[in-house]
Amino acid sequence: MNLRSLGEFGLIDRIAGRVAAGTGIIRGIGDDAAAVEPSPGTVQLLTSDMLLEGVHFDLTFTSPEALGRKSLAVNLSDMAAMGGRSRHFLLSLAIPPSVSLEFLDPFIGGLLDMASCHAVSLVGGDTCASRSGLVISITLVGEQLPERVVYRQGARPGDLVCVTGFLGDSALGLAELRAGLRETPAISRHLEPSPRCNEGLMLAEAGLPTAMIDVSDGLLADLGHILECSGVGAKVFLDRLPLSEYFSAEAGRLVSEPIQLALAGGEDYELLFSLPRQYLPQARQLLSARGTGCAVIGEVTEEAGLHVTAPDGSSYQPAGLGFSHF
Ligand code: ADP
Ligand code: MG
Repeated sequence: MNLRSLGEFGLIDRIAGRVAAGTGIIRGIGDDAAAVEPSPGTVQLLTSDMLLEGVHFDLTFTSPEALGRKSLAVNLSDMAAMGGRSRHFLLSLAIPPSVSLEFLDPFIGGLLDMASCHAVSLVGGDTCASRSGLVISITLVGEQLPERVVYRQGARPGDLVCVTGFLGDSALGLAELRAGLRETPAISRHLEPSPRCNEGLMLAEAGLPTAMIDVSDGLLADLGHILECSGVGAKVFLDRLPLSEYFSAEAGRLVSEPIQLALAGGEDYELLFSLPRQYLPQARQLLSARGTGCAVIGEVTEEAGLHVTAPDGSSYQPAGLGFSHF
């Protein structure tokens, strides 16, 4: 079977036939719009991310399964950063002639596997042909009680700046791919990030963070967003950045200034949040119950601006803030 003989509607049917039953779905794939029912008393959270061949992924590096998983993971990560519970999503695909059904089947498999891991259901989308590369666009709908949603604004002077997991592995993985390596722990983190869904939800439902964001563009850039939205500044200490054992051992072989990968590398999909100091033990306990680390990397200040301090106490000037498309 090939895509041409299957046709657009055949492909949609093929996708629809693999979708597991979900909750809150009045009408899923197969009408002009999906109809879903939010839980009573919640606000809906909507987020969308596009992944473009040649911009966000390289088909020579990634397997179709991994790409499917990552396409949904980046959206789940945004929802986690709002403290939301992800529920339903739309999948839009622009498919170039070079992409076959042999690619799409495992791609959908990876995507739906990630969906079932996080209890989200595919309820619709759009499908068309592309004349350039593969384009994947996902819109995710989630929900949360209005008073539990965590925004980028809300960080207050004296709050701790915290981050889950490790920083820099994804950027190291990308550098390794470009250098010709194919299977390392950092490459796995780059190609198959794990969104911190439960972590974001638990922190939000416990009412702990004052502001939160996921680290997609790079620590400094993303922290910059929190600071700007909150009208505050922060100091960050280089020797407190959480680095994996693999990163500490290997990054120096490939790049001249490894710490730069942790500061500005991006795509770590960890949660970065500000936390009133007295909540630290509770936050650590919640996260460690899930096997997730929580590093305190600095402190929110009244004075605007982001100050990075080197291990010797001197002021560190980062080479770049992070990723920007333009
Ligand atoms: P319309 O012409 O009204 O836009 P479509 O023919 O595009 O309808 O889609 C038919 C149905 O299939 C709709 O329910 C739509 O949400 C769903 N659909 C289309 N493409 C996808 C896809 N890639 N994944 C999941 N559902 C899809
Ligand atoms: Mg359509």
